Amino acid sequence: MLETGDPRVVRTWSRAARTGGRRVGFVPTMGFLHEGHLRLVDVAHSHANAVAMSIFVNPLQFGPTEDFARYLRDIPRDRTMALERGVECLFVPEGKDIYRREAVVRVSPGSLAGHLCGPFRPGHFEGVLTVVAKLFHIVEPDVAVFGRKDAQQAALVRRMVADLDFPVEIVVVPTVREADGLALSSRNAGLSADERRSALALSRGLDAAHEAFRRGERDGTAIVNAVAGVVRKEPAANVEYIEAVDPETLGPVAAVSEATLVALAVRVGKTRLIDNVILGQGLAGDERLGERG
Ligand code: AMP
Repeated sequence: MLETGDPRVVRTWSRAARTGGRRVGFVPTMGFLHEGHLRLVDVAHSHANAVAMSIFVNPLQFGPTEDFARYLRDIPRDRTMALERGVECLFVPEGKDIYRREAVVRVSPGSLAGHLCGPFRPGHFEGVLTVVAKLFHIVEPDVAVFGRKDAQQAALVRRMVADLDFPVEIVVVPTVREADGLALSSRNAGLSADERRSALALSRGLDAAHEAFRRGERDGTAIVNAVAGVVRKEPAANVEYIEAVDPETLGPVAAVSEATLVALAVRVGKTRLIDNVILGQGLAGDERLGERG
């Protein structure tokens, strides 16, 4: 496995792979890897012959009061996991490798940041799209793989690629969950045992939305209330938002359909968790780990 923090080395690797007739797949991450990230690598392998992963905690997407400095990092562990899963190029840049100067020109998410996490994290998606654009220019992948766990991010990246004509295919992978339903996240490591139990309110709430939809409920507010009814029973869970939105525009829908995305953000202690479900699929459409671990 090639490991480097130098963008030029990554681009040289990628161009050599493509000159050799291989398709390059790319999985961008912030590290502290778990099975969700590794599933993206598996999917990248099924769409490409050479897979690159980046590990970069992007300062541009963290607000001044957010957890940039506290974000968990463990490069030696990540390196072993990436290698075992067949990552061929591991790009681990430092801040100065990506932002040689202040990022004056940035990518604007426009109206897609007007809902869900956008209003609660001013500047976050501008930071995400700017770094993803830069990573795409460095890695020059044929295909890039993202998780539906971060549904708003995936929708924004798709839209950026379409609107700005990036020559890259975007693949979005269903959320990987623990056996009890908790969506895998690097942030779960910051939960105490009690907080982890409280965090199950997110997936239970989304399950309730799916159940209501299955029983014939089509009113957006009623679906949101079904989630809220479950989550608000959990005293340690502080709801930031619960919304039923169109999966492409991310705007709220009055009448829901199979394709409607129901998403929420909840604070449990100091940890901010997000999760979502596509109503027609339910959590059963997501992957579960056999055992907690
Ligand atoms: P992060 O390191 O949190 O920025 O995540 C990197 C990529 O992994 C993003 O595309 C995420 O959507 C994806 N991801 C994170 N958690 C999961 C999960 N539980 N299942 C599937 N993909 C995930």
